[in-house]
Amino acid sequence: MFGFTQDIGIDLGTASVLIYVQGKGIVLREPSVVAIDKNTDRMVAFGEEARKMLGRTPGNIIAIRPLRDGVISDYQMTEKMLKYFIKKISNRLIFKPRIIVCVPSGVTEVEERAVVDAALQAGARKIYLIEEPIAAAIGAGLDIAKPYGNMVVDIGGGTTDIAVISLGGIVVSTSIKVAGDRFDENIVRYLRKKYNMAIGDRTAEDIKMNIGCVFPLEEVIEMDVRGRSLVTGLPKNITITSEEIMEALEEPATGIVEAVHSVLEKTPPELVGDISSNGMVLTGGGSLIQGLDKLLEKETGIKVNIAEDAISCVAVGTGKALENIDFLNEYNNRLDRKWQ
Ligand code: ADP
Ligand code: MG
Repeated sequence: MFGFTQDIGIDLGTASVLIYVQGKGIVLREPSVVAIDKNTDRMVAFGEEARKMLGRTPGNIIAIRPLRDGVISDYQMTEKMLKYFIKKISNRLIFKPRIIVCVPSGVTEVEERAVVDAALQAGARKIYLIEEPIAAAIGAGLDIAKPYGNMVVDIGGGTTDIAVISLGGIVVSTSIKVAGDRFDENIVRYLRKKYNMAIGDRTAEDIKMNIGCVFPLEEVIEMDVRGRSLVTGLPKNITITSEEIMEALEEPATGIVEAVHSVLEKTPPELVGDISSNGMVLTGGGSLIQGLDKLLEKETGIKVNIAEDAISCVAVGTGKALENIDFLNEYNNRLDRKWQ
């Protein structure tokens, strides 16, 4: 038993939280949602249970996504949610684990501190933080330790993170607040404008997953949508096509293409050469929107590969990073000095 450790990796995403346990794989997958009782300010549910309340809550209960835009809008809530998830899986753990957390890029030090505290209070023996593009790249199976340029585009709910990585570090990167949520918002807006019809976020996400695309499909597909007429206030049904949704998604899709361009422009030529011979890799749930790979290929001339199990890449990458703890130790020196 000597030297035995049980390590866990956490992907603290804006849309969902995934927990990976070494030797077991992904053991938890829950939406990053907290439900609150407005009268008492108490948090009444977390994760899937809280998500079911989104848009369907009685007056006093509200459901919140504390990480929505890639910043931790409420770090105390995030801390509680994280603690709840760690506790939920910790009956499976024999010893105090080492925990590595991937936080959205752009979080502040106060927010990082809240994540570290939550993990320590939930029973971590030691805690590490890792940047999202690094975790995504490891999870996608890229060998990032070599002096060779790799480009990763991680599209989540709140943010798209684009990075060029070489020798285990980020050479150029950017993060924009255009990702899956923005697609949903644009679909809501499109239906309101064109059909005078209101739909909820969940319906918009359904439409996106079913017929959403950002590049013409081989065959136009349709979907029946139910909502409420803004004119009569009564239920309204329409049939909408993938072409219409493509029109609705043009603006955010262009935003992502432009951000990829801007990173390529700042990338040293040698590394651009590497990327153009290997291609770029897409990870995150948002990368599953149909046609994004084709659009990026057309606009950049670079081959695009969607990672296998794109939604789990970051969580798997955090877990695998633990197997490379020396690398992390070096990487997290700054944090170790400050916090432990
Ligand atoms: P985060 O890392 O921010 O938690 P995820 O990587 O879990 O986000 O991705 C969540 C986003 O991916 C959501 O906007 C969701 O609607 C979107 N998504 C998931 N599956 C699909 C799909 N098949 N097609 C289009 N979008 C998808
Ligand atoms: Mg993510």
